Formats: sequence, C-alpha cells, structure tokens
Amino acid sequence: MESCDVLIVGGGPAGSTCAWRLKAAGLDVIVLDKQVFPRDKVCAGWITPAVIKELDLDCKDYAQGRVLQAFYGFRTGLIGGLQISTDYGQAVSYGIRRCEFDHYLLQRCGARLTLGESLNQLEYQQDRWIVNGHFSASLVVGAGGHFCPVARFLGAKLGSDEHVISAQELEFEMTPKQVERCQVDATRPELFFCSDLKGYGWCVRKGNFLNIGLGREDNHKLAQHVADFRAFLIERGKIPADVPDKFHGHAYLLSSQKRPRPLFADHALLIGDACGLASPQSGEGIRPAIESGLLAAKIIIDANGDYRAERLKAYEAQIIERFGKRSASNTTAWLPDGIRMLAARKLLDSPWFVRHVLLDRWFLQTNQPGFHKR
Ligand SMILES: Cc1cc2nc3c(=O)[nH]c(=O)nc-3n(C[C@H](O)[C@H](O)[C@H](O)COP(=O)(O)OP(=O)(O)OC[C@H]3O[C@@H](n4cnc5c(N)ncnc54)[C@H](O)[C@@H]3O)c2cc1C
Repeated sequence: MESCDVLIVGGGPAGSTCAWRLKAAGLDVIVLDKQVFPRDKVCAGWITPAVIKELDLDCKDYAQGRVLQAFYGFRTGLIGGLQISTDYGQAVSYGIRRCEFDHYLLQRCGARLTLGESLNQLEYQQDRWIVNGHFSASLVVGAGGHFCPVARFLGAKLGSDEHVISAQELEFEMTPKQVERCQVDATRPELFFCSDLKGYGWCVRKGNFLNIGLGREDNHKLAQHVADFRAFLIERGKIPADVPDKFHGHAYLLSSQKRPRPLFADHALLIGDACGLASPQSGEGIRPAIESGLLAAKIIIDANGDYRAERLKAYEAQIIERFGKRSASNTTAWLPDGIRMLAARKLLDSPWFVRHVLLDRWFLQTNQPGFHKR
C-alpha cells in the first residue's frame, strides 16, 4: 500500500496547481491521472495574464520549445456579419497548447505522479481513503474534470440534471502552404458569435498552430453548427480550404449552475471543472481551475491534518466569494429570439460595447479584483 497525505485525482491545471502548493508546504502528495502525459485536452488554449501571475510562471523558461503566443487584441462579430477590431497595444492574453502547458505544470508540481491509471475504486476506511486498493490517503481531491469520478462519489449526478456547454474543437500545425493562406493574425484571435447568442466560435492562431472551435449552450445539432462555421471561415478566406474536418467534442459546466455540485465532504474536496467553475460569459475554465486549486490547497494546509467536513467548509464560501453565487445564468433567456438576435447585432456592431463589456468585462474580466489582493 502506497501512503500519502493527499491524493489528487486528475493532473490538469486544477490538480497540478493544488499539488504544487501542497508540496511547497511540505505535504506528501500523489497525483493520479488516467492518461499518460503529455496528453492533449479539448481547449482553445487561451489564458489571461492572471493565470501567469497566479502560477508564478516564468514566461522565458516556459517559452523554451513551447508555444506562448501573445494576444494584443481581438476581432469580433456575428457569424456571417461584420467584424470589429479591438487593439490594446499590449499583451492582454496568451495562447498556449494544452499538451505542453498541462505537462509543464504537472512536471513542475513536485508531487509523486501515477500516470496512465484511472480511479476505479474509492473506499473510506478508518479515517483514510483506499484508492484502487493500493493507495492510502488522508484526503482525496477530485480534479478529474467534468466527469470526475470523485464528484460522482460525493453525490453529483454527472450529465443528468446539469446544464452543460457542449463544444467541439480542432488544433493542428499548419503546413508552410497553409500558413501562407491563413488570414488569421496570430496576435488577434477571432471570435464569432452565433446569431441567437447561444454560443460562439473561435479561430485562434498560435504561431503555426491553428485552433478552431465552437461551443453552444445546447447540444442540438452541434456538429452541424461546427461544420457550418468551418465552411464560413473557408468562404471568408480566413482559413485554408484543406484544414482537417475532424473535430473533438467535450462539455463543461458553468459556475452559474442552478444545482451546483458539492464542493467538499469529510476528507474530500472538488476543484476545477470537477465542480463546474468555468465563466458563464466566456467559458474560461483554466483560471478558475487554478484559483480553486490554490484556494483548496490553503484550506488543506490550514486544516493541519484534521480533514473533517467542518474544517473544509470555508472552501465553499471562498469559491462563492470568488466566482459568485451559483444560480440561473442566462439573463436574456426571457427575451423572444427575434429580439435577442436584433440586440446582439446592434451590440456587436458597437466598438464601445465590444471593448468595454464584451472583451474587458466578460472575456478579460478586468473588473475582477486580483486573486492575491483580495
Ligand atoms: C472546447 C473547449 C474549449 C475551451 N477553451 C478554453 C480556453 O481557451 N481557455 C480556458 O481558460 N478554458 C477553456 N476551456 C475550459 C478548460 O479546458 C477547463 O475548464 C480546464 O481544462 C479545467 O481544468 P481541470 O484541471 O479542472 O480539468 P481537466 O483539464 O479536464 O483535467 C482533468 C484530468 O483528470 C483526468 N481524469 C479524468 N477522469 C479520471 C479518472 N477516472 N481517473 C484518473 N484521472 C482522471 C483527465 O485525464 C485529465 O487529465 C475550454 C473547454 C472546452 C470544452
């Protein structure tokens, strides 16, 4: 039996960040992930500067042999409509590749890694968790993403009764010919909103890599929406006509769930996508994964080995304070579709709205207090 203080299920950004902080405080940590790293993850790979700060990421070190694409602005509009360019004159976001980013963070965290093994069995015996019959841990952290088995164990009804965002994405390295024909500026990702405002598509270039995808509030005809979006980008001359058409799907929960997943229990905590923390407006989930990993680590360190639920419950209040109360999300849902579409068209044509509301407030969240300064 391999013993540790904390066993973290999932080595994505949430799990590796939590492990990194716990290791720094002297705890013995195991990270268990069903995949062998480097592994890919369906994601546009866009991170805000807060992520770099919170992770103490040394950009020069990170950029050695990895993609770190600075974004100085965005091009936005409706699918099929006009586009507006917004430039900030400085880096306001970055593009990373998840296969590189997640691997880097996991290697850096210093925990013992057990990769290529899925969590299959979880039992609670005499104040300790027995995991897969051969690990023993005082505390288990569920960081296994949307379908985290620890969340299921804590009572979450995965998939049923949960309102998810469904998305499909494709990332590939362009050939030199495709690079020549790609009209997307690497420093300015392009965002295209669906006319019913129920989702958006993106076209993000990171060096020679191109990431295209589309996410929607409903799963209805998602593949068709994605195929139409790809065809639209080709017709507009944005991307070469020979880009692959095999998109990968994934789903995620927003932090505004009506029936949120539990965040803690006796000797257990959930972080990141496992408890559904992605931003309702932009779908940004990496920063919430990292912040929840850091909040959980602090609670665990302060609990000083006493992991009863009452010692962990402050975590819930901190998550609500940071990400807001979890309640119904779509404030425009009561509007008839026609009015929503009309309003969308008007607002997305306004450079003021696009810069100050859509980008600053919803995508870059510049109004949110800094994580360390709260
Ligand atoms: C199409 C799409 C685009 C997105 N784009 C962005 C973006 O540009 N920027 C952004 O900030 N967010 C984006 N997100 C959201 C973001 O990807 C997630 O919020 C983020 O990955 C959450 O991190 P995590 O560590 O909680 O989970 P994950 O990154 O999902 O990591 C979970 C880990 O748990 C492991 N695991 C799962 N089950 C088990 C098991 N049974 N046993 C052991 N291990 C297990 C998995 O292998 C995985 O490595 C996007 C999401 C989608 C779907």
